[in-house]
Amino acid sequence: MNFHPIYKVIINIMAVINVIDIKKNSLLIVDDENSNLKVLSHILGSEYSIYTAKNGYDAIERAKEYKPDLILLDILMPEMDGYQTLSTIKKIEEIKKIPVVFITGLDSDEDEEKGLSLDAADYITKPFSPIVVKLRVRNQIQIITQMRTIERLSLIDQLTNLPNRRSFDDRLLMEWKQSIREQMPISLLMMDLDKFKKINDDYGHQQGDVVLMSSALIFSRAVKRPADFVARWGGEEFVVLLPNTPLQGARDIAENIRASVESTPIQSDNGPVINITISIGVNSIIPSRMDSIDAFLSGADKGLYAAKEAGRNKVIYNP
Ligand code: GH3
Ligand code: MG
Ligand code: MG
Repeated sequence: MNFHPIYKVIINIMAVINVIDIKKNSLLIVDDENSNLKVLSHILGSEYSIYTAKNGYDAIERAKEYKPDLILLDILMPEMDGYQTLSTIKKIEEIKKIPVVFITGLDSDEDEEKGLSLDAADYITKPFSPIVVKLRVRNQIQIITQMRTIERLSLIDQLTNLPNRRSFDDRLLMEWKQSIREQMPISLLMMDLDKFKKINDDYGHQQGDVVLMSSALIFSRAVKRPADFVARWGGEEFVVLLPNTPLQGARDIAENIRASVESTPIQSDNGPVINITISIGVNSIIPSRMDSIDAFLSGADKGLYAAKEAGRNKVIYNP
């Protein structure tokens, strides 16, 4: 898209602001001795938000409650030791991915081997150097941040910035289960731009990309509820998942999208205005455990196929 240079500057500044994480990363420090908690909090408190716990049980409860970015865990504690605490953490879905660094007086090779084989991210022995603790914690936080960036990118389509197919599959499974539990309707729009190959042929692949980006914006604007989910299914196909929405509501949204696409000419980079249309298949169900997600998807796909057969630029409910 052709932006005036000043807008490009503004867009760049906004991207940078987005990347800067203003919120501090957080640590949960677990130690039965107050003096250790104090020293570690002092060393790390300027860089991180600190939560503390004095035993394994508390550590697990606090981890569930605060979801810290990293846990620093002592091993020698009464009742539940650090090894047991870590093993338990690794079994609890909501906290099992939080990395745990042991920080302990146990300095034999065997202890360290045991700790690391339990999947600890690192093993620091006491007495420790404050600088080394700081740097090792920083390393772990860096790894987590990079992992999160990769995870985020792996769920987003780079061209349109919409969630991608993988992301959609995850969401669909989650919403499907929820709809079964709550016996609520769930609806799906399967959408495919009409004669898109011709757009590429007539205007070039790059302008085809501009059309895909503009279409994605139209779809995103057409849905209003936070749970509504627009994704790029692949190529020039898109999907909209509408949890807690019955057929009539889904049809209305589909018709709104169809009409918006038809009535929104897209300004290409190199001059001509491009007009497009879209075909949409709709499916809706209050699912039970006997229903399959695949059948739900192919129901919407059948509607889409029928819309193409009927001449395109149409919305058709799974016939
Ligand atoms: P129909 O109305 O039957 O859907 O016809 P169509 O031409 O849209 O369908 P077809 O599946 O034959 O062609 C889809 C085209 O979409 C072919 C492919 O090159 C193009 N396409 C897929 N992904 C992209 C993309 O990321 N960018 C661009 N520019 N084109 C893409
Ligand atoms: Mg098409
Ligand atoms: Mg297609």
